[in-house]
Amino acid sequence: MKSKSKMWLEKAVYAYKTLVLRQQSPWLVGIVITDKCNLNCHYCQSKNCGEYHFTWPMVCQALDSAYQRGCRSLYFTGGEPMLWRSGGKRIHDVVAYAQYLGFHEIFVFTNGTFPLDTPDCHFIVTIDGPKAVHETIRPGTYDLILQNVRQAATKTIFASITLGRQNADCIEEYAREMSTTGLFRGISFNLLTHWPEMIREHGIPPAERPAIMDRLWRLKQQGYPIVLSKAAWRALRHNNWKRPIRQIQLVTNRRVFDCCRDIDNPEICENCGYANCVEVAQILALRPSALWQVLKMTGN
Ligand code: SF4
Ligand code: SF4
Repeated sequence: MKSKSKMWLEKAVYAYKTLVLRQQSPWLVGIVITDKCNLNCHYCQSKNCGEYHFTWPMVCQALDSAYQRGCRSLYFTGGEPMLWRSGGKRIHDVVAYAQYLGFHEIFVFTNGTFPLDTPDCHFIVTIDGPKAVHETIRPGTYDLILQNVRQAATKTIFASITLGRQNADCIEEYAREMSTTGLFRGISFNLLTHWPEMIREHGIPPAERPAIMDRLWRLKQQGYPIVLSKAAWRALRHNNWKRPIRQIQLVTNRRVFDCCRDIDNPEICENCGYANCVEVAQILALRPSALWQVLKMTGN
């Protein structure tokens, strides 16, 4: 495993190249390790589509290449990464390999319905509302998720919510409920990001976005651990941040995308609600609140 001082040195060099020399090399990489999923959320079109699945040799090669390109921060997504298997290997082996290569932070996005027993990674667990609302979207899973979080191999776990019509009314209740569990280091969120027809049916209309963002910001000011810097709040509220983000990549078994899979779809990008991308955009714009936010999220 790489020493902390080496990691800080790599971060400092990258920050200098990116923020001072304005180079656009990638740092954060996501791997869509599989599209297999045990759930069936109504807004999700990628689950079980049979398009995305890495074998063990393929995922090792993808990690090698990402590391060579300069990526040091990594997340796994899906589908459900905890379901991934290949030739007797599971996500534990992939995380261990990424650690061996020298990635600094490793996050696993998960629906939380499997034991969170992978060591040496951070989990981002999707819970789509307070219990009653979550259960309408992901039936029969809420108690199981909290039980798995309680027994997780790491204590660095974030709750994450995708906000749409079905759950936007309850964000205050959600923040209270997640905080009361005492299980989460923070609460992250996305605004449902999709094709315009899907947003019309399930998403937050652009005109309602400022009010939602203001409610999230109020919660943050009240002391709830919402992962949201002041700069990102403003950028999301006004939807005026610079995109795509070339410092982020997303890797599938077919292609390496800059930013995310929707980079070729301007209709989706123009109303992007991926809050983490907005935070990165604010870091690149040297906003102090965003720099502080990322230190809080990744610091131990
Ligand atoms: S848990 Fe995630 S991958 Fe599975 S159906 Fe829901 S949104 Fe899609
Ligand atoms: S929707 Fe567009 S702007 Fe948003 S993360 Fe994807 S590529 Fe980037």
